[in-house]
Amino acid sequence: AKKNGRNSLRFFDPTMQAAATVRAHAEQDLQRAVENGEFELFYQPQVDAQGKMVGAEALLRWHHPERGLVSPGEVIPLAEETGLIIPIGNWVMKTACAQLKRWATLPEAQGLTMAVNVSARQFAREDFVNFVLKVLEDTQIDPTLLELEVTESMMLDIDTAAAKMQALRTAGVRFSVDDFGTGYSSLAHLTRIPIAKLKIDQSFVQHMGDRQADLVIVQTVIAMAHSLGLCVVAEGVETPTQHQQLLNDGCNVFQGYLFGRPQPSGALERQLLQGNPP
Ligand code: C2E
Ligand code: CA
Ligand code: CA
Ligand code: CA
Repeated sequence: AKKNGRNSLRFFDPTMQAAATVRAHAEQDLQRAVENGEFELFYQPQVDAQGKMVGAEALLRWHHPERGLVSPGEVIPLAEETGLIIPIGNWVMKTACAQLKRWATLPEAQGLTMAVNVSARQFAREDFVNFVLKVLEDTQIDPTLLELEVTESMMLDIDTAAAKMQALRTAGVRFSVDDFGTGYSSLAHLTRIPIAKLKIDQSFVQHMGDRQADLVIVQTVIAMAHSLGLCVVAEGVETPTQHQQLLNDGCNVFQGYLFGRPQPSGALERQLLQGNPP
């Protein structure tokens, strides 16, 4: 669009202008949401091979005043782009840790882990480690119950990533690699960072039954993780058939609609009280 002549008309393309207006509006909308506290965390159960709930993943929800519940698939990319992910991500960390503190007081929630998604931009900040340490100090939760989910793409600068993770690991915090198998990944990198878990991406789980290649990937990831001493979580488990296959393959932890949807904290606590999911 920098060229002279006709191409410069692109600057005044009404559809582009409209798109820019929509985006500016969306950004203001999100900014207001941050200021007004329009977010909530939902929690999705994670169960072990015996079907016992052993943890939950905190997932962001936006209660939009006009649009209702907006999914993070829409919120997170815009938040990352605008930098609003920092106040949002900080709120998520504080809120999830406050929830963990409450669980420490409930007999049925003892030992439950809390998985929190960390965004690339959040992790890249120089004060990330100190921020998490501060939240741990303020809430006085057991740091070994906090699990930070990172993705393979955050490990590109492996030395910096490893140093940050090690500092938090020393404080007791655990890490898991989210969406494993979908990103750039070097197995050598995996051995250089202190991780406890691999989360197999739901796209593999969903097609295990009809794509031989996906089944092979799932089985290979489980075997590899176990030989590296890592625990494996399968996400997006929706059917008993998928669950049975994953059990046979030695998967350790299961997450998906079969065991519970992401839900408000009160609903998750009721599920815990009732004993355990199907
Ligand atoms: P993710 O971390 O991979 O989270 C799993 C997503 O799969 C969640 O979508 C969850 O609701 C959905 N899911 C769980 N079980 C099933 C199932 O059995 N079937 C299907 N089809 N889907 C299932 P959600 O809540 O819409 O979140 C989407 C993504 O947004 C997350 O993917 C994560 O990358 C991001 N996200 C969510 N909350 C946060 C947050 O607090 N911070 C950051 N940085 N990212 C977040
Ligand atoms: Ca996740
Ligand atoms: Ca995931
Ligand atoms: Ca995902």
